[in-house]
Amino acid sequence: KAEAEQCIAGQGAKCKGCLEALRKEWKVMNGWEYRALFCHYTGQYYCPQCHKARTAPIPARVLMYWDFKEYKVCDEAYRLIMGVYHRPMLCVSATNPRLFDQVPALSVARKLRLQLNILYHIMQECKDAPWDTIPAAQRYYMQETEIYSLWDLKRIHEVQPKVLKSADTAPKSIPANELLVGLKRIRQKLIAHCVRECGTGCGPQVQQCCSLCSEEEPLYVFDINNTVQCPRCGKVYHKACYKLQACRWCFATS
Ligand SMILES: [Zn+2]
Ligand SMILES: [Zn+2]
Ligand SMILES: [Zn+2]
Ligand SMILES: [Zn+2]
Repeated sequence: KAEAEQCIAGQGAKCKGCLEALRKEWKVMNGWEYRALFCHYTGQYYCPQCHKARTAPIPARVLMYWDFKEYKVCDEAYRLIMGVYHRPMLCVSATNPRLFDQVPALSVARKLRLQLNILYHIMQECKDAPWDTIPAAQRYYMQETEIYSLWDLKRIHEVQPKVLKSADTAPKSIPANELLVGLKRIRQKLIAHCVRECGTGCGPQVQQCCSLCSEEEPLYVFDINNTVQCPRCGKVYHKACYKLQACRWCFATS
């Protein structure tokens, strides 16, 4: 209580929203107290006009602690958070990259997006790319790989509400969830286009043979667990081959 008094004094005993003076009221147990509510988003106090005690997840807490609990926030913060709920705004890699290790389903989502992104770039040149079959609101999944909406993270949180401790072993299987299913569906569409449907340029870019070894089985660029793509020329190699000799065309081997 003393802390609250101090904070309120710090903001001039005024509501941070409307800047009206905060009024005091008599409480049987506590004596005179400010009629003010704390906003967990801004960390400031508000009058009952500006803070209706609505609750929302706090984006920073989601990113830092994987904490999706809803906290009381002022009306403006509520509008702000809910207004961007479905919009890609949160960069996990920049804010808390450890989260990928702590939440395996999230790292699966990121891998899927890396694959989508590779295919997306290949298909930029293609006139027959089936972009219209992918809802506009889902295109950011392939246009870039790092930014998530609260809703994306929420759907992952639903299947994995707790972060792994470093001592925990990673789960063998990731429970199905809506986001991953959606990402896989997009991947399927893009792969189907590149490997089967495209009559023009996508196929040969997606399916290549490793020119560092003599294996004839083609590699798929999106098979990111086993292949490496040369960042300069885009040629695809087995991970192991590339590790040994790098790209023969771009980097002189010593
Ligand atoms: Zn106010
Ligand atoms: Zn194509
Ligand atoms: Zn090879
Ligand atoms: Zn190269």
